[in-house]
Amino acid sequence: MTDRLLNLAQQPAARKILQNIGLPTPVALLRAKGAYQAEPLRGARALAGAAGKGFAQTRITKMLDGAGAECLKTADGLGEDDKLDVVTFDATAVAGAKDLRALYDFFHPIMGKIGKNARVVIVTGLPEAAKHSAQAAAYRALEGFTRSLAKEIGKRGARANLFYLEKGAESRLEMPLRFFLTGHSAYVDGQPVRISSTAKAPTKMPSTATLDGKVALVTGAARGIGAATAQRLAAEGAQVIGVDIPQDEAALNDTMSAINGIGFPADVTDDATPKKLADFVLEQFGGVDIVVHNAGVTRDKTLAKMPEHHWDMVLAINLDAIVRIDEALHAAGAVREHGRIVCLSSIGGIAGNVGQTNYGATKSGLIGYVAAEGGVHADKGITVNAVAPGFIETRMTAAMPFTIREAGRRMNSMSQGGQPEDVAELICFLSTPGAAGVTGNTIRVCGQSLVGA
Ligand code: NAD
Repeated sequence: MTDRLLNLAQQPAARKILQNIGLPTPVALLRAKGAYQAEPLRGARALAGAAGKGFAQTRITKMLDGAGAECLKTADGLGEDDKLDVVTFDATAVAGAKDLRALYDFFHPIMGKIGKNARVVIVTGLPEAAKHSAQAAAYRALEGFTRSLAKEIGKRGARANLFYLEKGAESRLEMPLRFFLTGHSAYVDGQPVRISSTAKAPTKMPSTATLDGKVALVTGAARGIGAATAQRLAAEGAQVIGVDIPQDEAALNDTMSAINGIGFPADVTDDATPKKLADFVLEQFGGVDIVVHNAGVTRDKTLAKMPEHHWDMVLAINLDAIVRIDEALHAAGAVREHGRIVCLSSIGGIAGNVGQTNYGATKSGLIGYVAAEGGVHADKGITVNAVAPGFIETRMTAAMPFTIREAGRRMNSMSQGGQPEDVAELICFLSTPGAAGVTGNTIRVCGQSLVGA
């Protein structure tokens, strides 16, 4: 659905009027299109700072060079109108509160230089692996810093995210940096991401054609986020099998035929579906590499007025079916080494919503599920994560009453809704071999929504 305010704000004269009457003036987000590129930062101006000598800096610099960025030693030589596109900061060496001064020293002078649609990534250590409580506090302080910084630069369409990096997992930084420092992560903002050596990493972690030879199962693939995900995975080279209810077979086939995918009409809640899916991927492909549990529904009513079939249906589709499909796939040995499982949670599962006790329970349940499941198959290199979309411009949000829709759209750091492609991008990143360091995470794709923050 068209966001008229976003369109108006792109015209200088109208932008001034909107500012004068106190309305938000969102910046059009620069989104990367299509598959990952070898040098996605060609033409981008980057500045890499550090607090002392951390363990991430060498990898960060190598990644920036390899991705084609113009790496500045300092921002001092920048002209009046010159802006930074990429800023990184290695805070893995902070050992206590005093060391946090390095944040002020680095960021304060460059705040006016962080450009429109710029990307900031800060890297620090895992608080639970800190040498002492003072260091744990310093590591954790980076989260409040990053979230606040993201709120200050969000008006420019710029974003800031934080990596909690386990020492020893430095070799797993490249792909997360490539995702979070480019236009592929346009609507992912203010997020802490844990990068660890929990799951075994593959020997090859390509940065282009990342899913060549991979087989992906996507549920709810006929439309919306599921269809966008199927398209994005296919663009990286994956063979997609799309699942959707038999009533939507025509729409499913349309989506699949455009990407040489295979339509598999089935209701995920049917008792027979999990085994049928396991048998199919084993017979046709010898297994599956990526499973995206996207099928989901809402049946909103306050608890007092909620009929029991609304409760049962939402729980069955959004949570129970996911656990049963995973169990069947694992029992059959169908998930291959270095498999990637991604579940669709929601900020509704983090914040809760009036009328969504059923939906909120399922989407929150998935956060618990991936946190527990994230390490279970780690010896096979299988990662399990969730993405939690905020306000995404889909059929579902277009049907909302005007005032609720406008509030949902604007209550985030970027004053606009996300696109199904933004969610698909995050799912795609989590599906790549290079995302081996990310497991058990729930990452929001919400433009740093105030809901549940
Ligand atoms: P959508 O309604 O456009 O698409 C969902 C698809 O799932 C449909 O094609 C539907 O037929 C399919 N489906 C439903 N029940 C099924 C079943 N029993 N078996 C097989 N397929 C089934 O929804 P969307 O907006 O694209 O959302 C996709 C996922 O993202 C959902 O899990 C949703 O909860 C989550 N999400 C969406 C938003 C948003 O703003 N759109 C926000 C947060 C979370």
